[in-house]
Formats: sequence, structure tokens, C-alpha cells
Amino acid sequence: MVYLDNAATTKMFEECTDIIKRYACEDFYNPSAGYVSAISVSKELDDARKSLLNKLGASKGDVIFTGGATESNNLAIMGSARNGRWEYVFSAGEHPSVYNTAMHLKELGFVVHFVPLQTNGQVDYDALEGVLNEKTRLISVIHVSNETGAINDIARVNKLRNKYSPKALLHCDGVQAFCKIPFRLDELGADLYSISAHKFHGAKGVGALYVKNKSSLKNIVYGGGQEGGYRSGTENVAGIKAMQYALEQIDIKNNYIKVERCKKGFLTGLLQDGVEYIDTDNPYILSISFKGVNGETLMRALEDKVVVSTGSACSSKHAGNRVLSEMKLSPQRIKSSIRVSFDGGLDELEVMKAGEYIAQTYEKILEKVR
Ligand code: PMP
Repeated sequence: MVYLDNAATTKMFEECTDIIKRYACEDFYNPSAGYVSAISVSKELDDARKSLLNKLGASKGDVIFTGGATESNNLAIMGSARNGRWEYVFSAGEHPSVYNTAMHLKELGFVVHFVPLQTNGQVDYDALEGVLNEKTRLISVIHVSNETGAINDIARVNKLRNKYSPKALLHCDGVQAFCKIPFRLDELGADLYSISAHKFHGAKGVGALYVKNKSSLKNIVYGGGQEGGYRSGTENVAGIKAMQYALEQIDIKNNYIKVERCKKGFLTGLLQDGVEYIDTDNPYILSISFKGVNGETLMRALEDKVVVSTGSACSSKHAGNRVLSEMKLSPQRIKSSIRVSFDGGLDELEVMKAGEYIAQTYEKILEKVR
């Protein structure tokens, strides 16, 4: 079976189990406790923070460990929200963990703007420019779309922020970018950046929020004051150390080149009449439509040999696809779409064969429905 749903989650590196065991059963001390063995665990957390900052390419700022990117996104948005004259700006292509938090802000009476997408899946920079002003408190633009793989030009968004909304914070959901797309946070200019360990071979339920300047943020959880008071609750030390291991293992540039080859070979095997994909610069995620066939039917028909999805796992329980609709794709095309997502650990030949297999399966289904 070839697993091509790596945007939903990745297989944890086996070595992470040893690390989890170590911090669960040997160095299991509470990092907030005052004795020497606990202080050394706390230092281990700080070491993980440094490693994460280094991988992000951030020369300043802090890391707040969280229970995953959904929580990081909630903290970034709700922790930045202030009453008063402020406005909040979101791209229309956000993951539900940002989109639904934005909707919550709206329900609370905050002024919320959604900026439309271009047909290539990126945020419409001109429309963004039109909505930014002195009152903007937060701009949240996903770095890489989990639905289409479209890469937003965050440095460009940062320039717009600096020009029109110098007091605004810039947040990026970096879940599908971190450890995949080469970048340096220093160059992007984001103030807040969310990541999730299970998307790069760490464990589920662990993530982080990068914060350039902690004083811009308020906590949304109340408790014992861990993580500098920004995220109370005893840290998931084992998960955090496993996340550190995973991020340190990943060779972003090499994987990128490998995945580019995978995408190319895959498309060679796949493309034929009726098959269309959303063309982005990102080799990791492909949104593909199959004219005349239901995406879900195709996904199920492939399942024994090739695992794909009909879109983000987080929205699979909801009808339609909000992000593809925002790109003005026809309802027929959206219904006939699947998402394929690669990983640096894949075998290129297997991926190419998977493309061919999907093409054959598509033809078989088409014959039946004709
Ligand atoms: N943002 C994006 C872009 C994602 O793809 C996901 C995972 N589907 C999340 C946020 C949520 O991450 P987590 O599973 O760690 O809560």
C-alpha cells in the first residue's frame, strides 16, 4: 500500500518511540518541579525550543509548546484579540482551526475581514492591500494551503503589513510548510507561526507557536503558569522531545528535491483526458480532479493499494470544500477532486506506479458510469 495522505498526518519516526519511553519512564520528572532531576528536564525543553527556533530560521523570539496546531492557531488569534477599535484580517483559504476561530471572533462582535483567493489558490494580495488599515490588529495568512499546496508569499504580506498596518501582528499557520518548504522565518517576517509535530514524523497532540514578541500575546488558558504563563498545563515533555528529534532528522532541501521528482513521475503516470490538477510551486500537495467521477468513489476504489483523501481530514465530515469553492472551482470539479500528498521518505518508482494505478482505476470507474 502506498500512503499518499501525508498532509493529513505522517508516520512517526520509529526512534521517537525510544525518546517517548525515555521521557515517560526514566526522565519523567515534572519540568516545573524544583529538584535537580526536574530542572534538567526543564533544560531539555529549552534545548528543544532552541532547536525549533533554529529550524524555523528565527534569530529572535520564543517558542510556546502546545497540544498541536489547532491550539497554536487558537492561541495566536484569541491571544491577540483586543477589545476596542481593532480589525482582524484572514485569508479565505485558512484551515478550519483558523477559520472557525475567526468566525468565533465575528460572533463575539469583532470586525473580521476575509480576503478572497486567486484562482491559483494564493491569497489575493491586491484585495488584502485594500482591507488593511491603521486599525488592523491581526493578519492571518496560511503559509501553505492544506487543500491545494498553494504557497502564499508571506514576505509580500509582511511588506503590506509594514506599509498599511504597522501595528498589526502577522500570523501564519505553518503546518504544511514547516520541515517541507525551505524558508527562514527572519525573511518572512511573521510574528506568530504555528506548527504541528505529526505532520513531520513526530507524535500527534504536540505542536508549538512561535512568538516574536511575547508581550503582544495574552494567554487563553488559565492555570499554573507553565510556558511563561502563555500555556498553562504540564508540558508534554516526551512528545516535545520526540518532535525535536523528528525536526532535527529532516533534511528539508534534499526531501524537497526528492518530492519534486515524485510529483513529476506521479503526474507522468496519471495525466490523461479528464484529469486536471491545481498547478502550484509546491511539490508536496496536489489537488486533482477527475471529470465525471466522484472523488470519494475514487478514493474508496483506490484504498487497498493507494491511500489518498478527498481533502483535508479536518473538513472531511463537512459537505463541499470551502477552500476550493473560494477559488471559484465549479461544484462538479470540487466533487470530483482528491488530494494527494507526498513525503520525503517515499519511493519514487512506487509513487509513479501509484499515479498509473489511479489513472487505470479512474478509467474503470468511468466505463461503469458511462
Ligand atoms: N493547520 C493546518 C494547515 C493543518 O493541515 C492542520 C492539520 N490538518 C492543522 C492546522 C491542525 O493541526 P493539529 O492536528 O496539530 O491540530
